Amino acid sequence: MKQDSNVFVNRTLNLQKINYIGLDMDHTLVKYHSENFECLAHTLMLEKLVETKGYPSEILDLELQYDRAIRGLVLDKKFGNLLKVSRYGAIRVSYHGLENISFSKQKKIYRSTYIDLSDPNYDVIDTTFSIAFATLFAQLVDLKDHKFPQEMPDYAVIAEDLNYVLDTAHRDESIKSVVCENLEKYIIKDKELVEGLEYYIKSGKKIFLLTNSEFYYTKKLLDYTINPFLTHCSNWQELFEFTIVFAQKPRFFIDQLNFLEIDPETGKMENKSGKIEKGKVYQAGCETTLTSDLNLLPDETLYIGDHIYGDVVLLKKNCAWRTALVVEELSKEIEGFKKAEPYVEKIEQLMDKKHPLEVALNRLSAELISSNDDQLKVRFDELMLEVAEIDKEVSPLIRKQQEFFNPYWGETFRSGIEESYFAHQMERFACIYMSDLKDFLKMSPRSYFRSTKRPLAHEL
Ligand SMILES: [Mg+2]
Repeated sequence: MKQDSNVFVNRTLNLQKINYIGLDMDHTLVKYHSENFECLAHTLMLEKLVETKGYPSEILDLELQYDRAIRGLVLDKKFGNLLKVSRYGAIRVSYHGLENISFSKQKKIYRSTYIDLSDPNYDVIDTTFSIAFATLFAQLVDLKDHKFPQEMPDYAVIAEDLNYVLDTAHRDESIKSVVCENLEKYIIKDKELVEGLEYYIKSGKKIFLLTNSEFYYTKKLLDYTINPFLTHCSNWQELFEFTIVFAQKPRFFIDQLNFLEIDPETGKMENKSGKIEKGKVYQAGCETTLTSDLNLLPDETLYIGDHIYGDVVLLKKNCAWRTALVVEELSKEIEGFKKAEPYVEKIEQLMDKKHPLEVALNRLSAELISSNDDQLKVRFDELMLEVAEIDKEVSPLIRKQQEFFNPYWGETFRSGIEESYFAHQMERFACIYMSDLKDFLKMSPRSYFRSTKRPLAHEL
């Protein structure tokens, strides 16, 4: 794999033209101990399902199986299935609850293996707690099938209930209050990242924070992760050009909400008077006001986030800002990719051997239509055998290659030989992407990120 930096480019981006860099907070600027965090969401969702939706209390024994899900899976609410699909909506792996669905069964359920993602029965799982959400759905479907067929609602209602408890856990602060009380367990401190921010600011870039989190939570997390490492200013409010909390993205990019100004000492709010000012903290607002207040050129702002829908999809569709995505899964995927490389090479060698045999088989089969020559038949059978032998060699290599990725779903970014739907979304809406914001901050602020020419099938 050719790689000279850890920032990957979908669309050419010249950092010299970028004056403003906007940062999302959760999972972008502030990194979480993901497994602990998903585990917390899983537990709180279970408690709420029992308390508010009357689910059997036995579900409280369920434990998060972190490997059970990856981001970008599609939830089929009607049949209780989880699907991994390609960019074209082709199903490549599927599970009903916790059980793998065989290809023949999958074909029976979905007739063609392609699905239309605009169908309301399907939900693409790209929520903040994708893993906890998808795992819990699979576990609950399994419990309904095998233990509580009467006590638990239909699959579609289970999905609805999960959405409800997840929303509630966000709204009633139950997740955030636990995080605030146990910062060390859930939040990662990173001195290098703060150094990178200071370096970019010293180089003339204006960095601002644009987060959906409320002020008290933002303050709690940034006081913990940023303040201890600052060398040029006394707190994060001074570090950032300005801060916008409770931004309600993606509405921030499409609606015309008013800005409120927050007093960082007291947390009190009042309507913003005048233009956005350096060092101040705001709540809500919208991209249109921000752009006009600061007289921004359409493409001098780069926004870096981690959530495909909330941070980049509507931003890319509605505004001219450039986009970057932090994709935590990427480092593990690249590691697996490197380990799997020898197996991929062997598979490719075998496929190169197989191709001329298949061509010869096609030719022989055409000749056999017009002549019943016994020698041709013998040769045909010999070639078929050779192809079968190669297939026998390839199958275990494919299995071996897959072992370096998620045991249930394989690669996050590939679905068979095609890109996964998740990778497709990322490619479509993020100009650049990386596994950690730090990877970006290690690059020169003058970097010219060039995309490579992607060959079309006929150009290969
Ligand atoms: Mg985020």
